[in-house]
Amino acid sequence: MKPVKVLHTLYIVLILSAAAASAPSKTPPPDIFLITIDTLRADHVHCYGYTGVATPALDALAKDGVRFTQAFTPSPITNTSHASILTGLLPGSHGVTDFGVPLSVSHPTVAELLKAQNYHTAAFIGAVILDSKSLAPGFDRGFDYYDNFPEHSSTKSRWGRLERRGMDVVEHAENWLSKHPAGPHFLWVHLYDPHDPYEPPAPYSQVYKDHLYDGEIAYADSALAHFITYLKRSGMYGNSVIVAAGDHGEGLGEHHEDTHGIFLYDSTTHVPLIVKLPGPRGAGAVVTAQVRTLDIMPTLLELASASAPQKKDGDSLEPYFDGKSEAARPAFGETDYPLRFGWAPLRSVRSDGFKFIEAPRPELYDLPLDPAEMTNKYEPQDARVEKSLAMLAEVRSKEAQLQGSSIPAQESSLPDPKDKIEEQNLLHTAMIAAEDNRPADACKTLEKALALDPKSPTALRQLGELELQAGDYVQAAHHFKAAAEIRPDDAVALFHEGQALEKTRDLGGARDVLEASLKLVPGQFEARLLLGQVYLGLKDPAAAEDQYEAALLLQPGSVEAQLGLADAQITKGNFAEAAQSLQALSKVQAKNAHLFDLLAKAYSGLGKKTEAQQAATKAKLLSSNK
Ligand SMILES: [Zn+2]
Repeated sequence: MKPVKVLHTLYIVLILSAAAASAPSKTPPPDIFLITIDTLRADHVHCYGYTGVATPALDALAKDGVRFTQAFTPSPITNTSHASILTGLLPGSHGVTDFGVPLSVSHPTVAELLKAQNYHTAAFIGAVILDSKSLAPGFDRGFDYYDNFPEHSSTKSRWGRLERRGMDVVEHAENWLSKHPAGPHFLWVHLYDPHDPYEPPAPYSQVYKDHLYDGEIAYADSALAHFITYLKRSGMYGNSVIVAAGDHGEGLGEHHEDTHGIFLYDSTTHVPLIVKLPGPRGAGAVVTAQVRTLDIMPTLLELASASAPQKKDGDSLEPYFDGKSEAARPAFGETDYPLRFGWAPLRSVRSDGFKFIEAPRPELYDLPLDPAEMTNKYEPQDARVEKSLAMLAEVRSKEAQLQGSSIPAQESSLPDPKDKIEEQNLLHTAMIAAEDNRPADACKTLEKALALDPKSPTALRQLGELELQAGDYVQAAHHFKAAAEIRPDDAVALFHEGQALEKTRDLGGARDVLEASLKLVPGQFEARLLLGQVYLGLKDPAAAEDQYEAALLLQPGSVEAQLGLADAQITKGNFAEAAQSLQALSKVQAKNAHLFDLLAKAYSGLGKKTEAQQAATKAKLLSSNK
């Protein structure tokens, strides 16, 4: 080898290593802020062409970022849609098809994957439905901090108990960022405000008094403005990635749907999506190709130089940022929410300018001619229908593979939700009234729903619950009985029927329905306790003992179950055993009148008159001090 060549090679190596030092892979990973705005229709945002609302923060973000005009969510309900945003999976793939369904550990979330890249992660939610301790189990995975709601709230108001105003949510996020300045950060900030009921604070309540939904949007935008100002002031804005997206839209009466969840029309599936990139990249770009909120997760991972999981239904939006791609992506829609009410679930595909909705009465819309989806062009032999069915079948089989289950049967015998939407609007109104402690309004609305459909199990159960709370036990038992007849596997309706019957002193009836409920779901602690009490009332202490023992297996420390068990033992004449456990319990329950009452009985049964007298006196004293 000639010396010249060696020198030459060395020179190249030096140049290469100098280049590597300044290569993009060495730049620090960007802070990432995912902002989801609940119930936000794309066509109710100012930068999307709507003049009825001022959304200066979203407009400014669009100026600094890439705005997608045709973005679609695969689900019209909050938890399902957010699970898709966090995992990049379709609802049938991640399995969170209703509230309270846990997000399985087998599906990694964007938070987990970014945390593995040394991101500092936190989530700030605006609604209790995304609380990971109750209605959104598993959503907190990968977050160092997840801003759940307080477990016990003394307030009857919805604020702080069910919902947080956007300004509270962003203040929590800002406080956390101030206390955790070390980056890179991944924050998910969820602004719930545009979700109904529409109650924006002043001045939005005044400015928008004739269209309060828009008032909520304007208010949520002001919270976003507060957050962005914070990011700018703390120097985080310039090099950050910020994604702002709606989780789903709102019916606003279109197709007779007041809110969202039942249908898959554009009114509830077309959402705004804005991606601000680090530095000036993509600023002001507008992408008109059809994309999906499913694509958010793979995009964030690519921007953080992290690899995406193999199993995903979405794809990175990177090719659109610099105009490399204009290809439309097929948008699938799924809603199992109608199943909650006993109606058929829906599936849809939006592709090549048409939308097909799979329903008991299928629908096909020619979107360029009919963007409002008013004229159903469905014909079984239509090539577009055949293509859509093939696409949906493919998605179903892919989802079944991901879930490790067989392809679910289509439930075509159930009613078409199109025939039930008026009833659903009433059920929803009643639910909000009940949540807001307006039981009379809720009852009135449920009775209207029952006038439309006397066999609505949801209406019957909700009415029963309100009557149970109001102390109208005969009516409550009647409504729960009717609900359980329509849905014989509804363990909760049967339990509530048992509660109502016990109050009316129909102990035999209560026993039968509680046994039936526990046969369906054996692990119901409250039902075990109540059934123990019912058996005591029926003078069957042995059966009562079984129930209290079963309750203690479920909750070993339960004072109520221990007292019930002692009561059953006393009734059976097993005084020594009862006295022993009551004495032990009295050390930690020194102020429990019922305990000393039972202890008096046990001593009396044992012939210990003095101790019985003392215990009885103490019981009397404690109950008069209450
Ligand atoms: Zn939502």
